[in-house]
Amino acid sequence: MSEPLLRRRELLAGLGAGSAGLLLPGQAAAVSRQDIRSWDDTTDVLVAGSGSAACSAAIEARRKGVPVLLIESLPQFGGSSAMSGGVVYAGGGTALQRAGGFEDGVEDMYRFIAGNSGSHPQLRKIQRYCEESAAHFDWMVALGVPYNERFTSAKELSLGDESLYYSGNELAWPACDNARPVPRGHVPGRRVGAL
Ligand SMILES: Cc1cc2nc3c(=O)[nH]c(=O)nc-3n(C[C@H](O)[C@H](O)[C@H](O)COP(=O)(O)OP(=O)(O)OC[C@H]3O[C@@H](n4cnc5c(N)ncnc54)[C@H](O)[C@@H]3O)c2cc1C
Repeated sequence: MSEPLLRRRELLAGLGAGSAGLLLPGQAAAVSRQDIRSWDDTTDVLVAGSGSAACSAAIEARRKGVPVLLIESLPQFGGSSAMSGGVVYAGGGTALQRAGGFEDGVEDMYRFIAGNSGSHPQLRKIQRYCEESAAHFDWMVALGVPYNERFTSAKELSLGDESLYYSGNELAWPACDNARPVPRGHVPGRRVGAL
């Protein structure tokens, strides 16, 4: 096999940085695509992308102790996740909901999402999402995502440091008849505070 034009070490050092190409873990700079004629590496888990889905998978795989290689095709890390408002629709009795005195259940969350998912809702996925939602929230808190134990009745994305609000139309008819209205928009506080 011929020698690769760029060795892994050279990539990690960020040679040829400055334009779109390949990003590696711990690497701040990108390598131009046209400078990469061949490249190889070995890993147990390869994660393509660096958005929230990819990073979640990479974190969990790494926690299991297996080597993980995460690659991103764009020169910026984070995908659309990094551009998002960071609102996570969570419920079923998250720690933040309980702290705010809101009682939520898997069944209510399921009825709300299923009722707002158009004519062909993926009910099994929705059920699982609702069942695991409170645990997912705990997972993010354990990772260090800062939430404040504060609720706002403001309808739009909170500009204060509140972390819980009604991000959907839970209070509006007919949703309010189908499921008990509960705020489920979980967003990191603008000013950091411990949960
Ligand atoms: C402005 C904005 C605000 C939003 N706000 C919210 C919000 O508040 N709450 C909410 O729930 N949702 C929000 N969304 C939607 C949410 O951001 C997306 O649904 C979510 O980020 C998708 O995550 P993902 O990990 O699946 O994909 P992405 O975050 O898009 O990540 C995919 C990554 O994979 C990379 N990639 C693709 N193919 C390859 C490949 N072959 N090799 C290597 N890398 C590859 C892409 O370049 C990209 O970086 C918002 C979206 C936008 C645009």
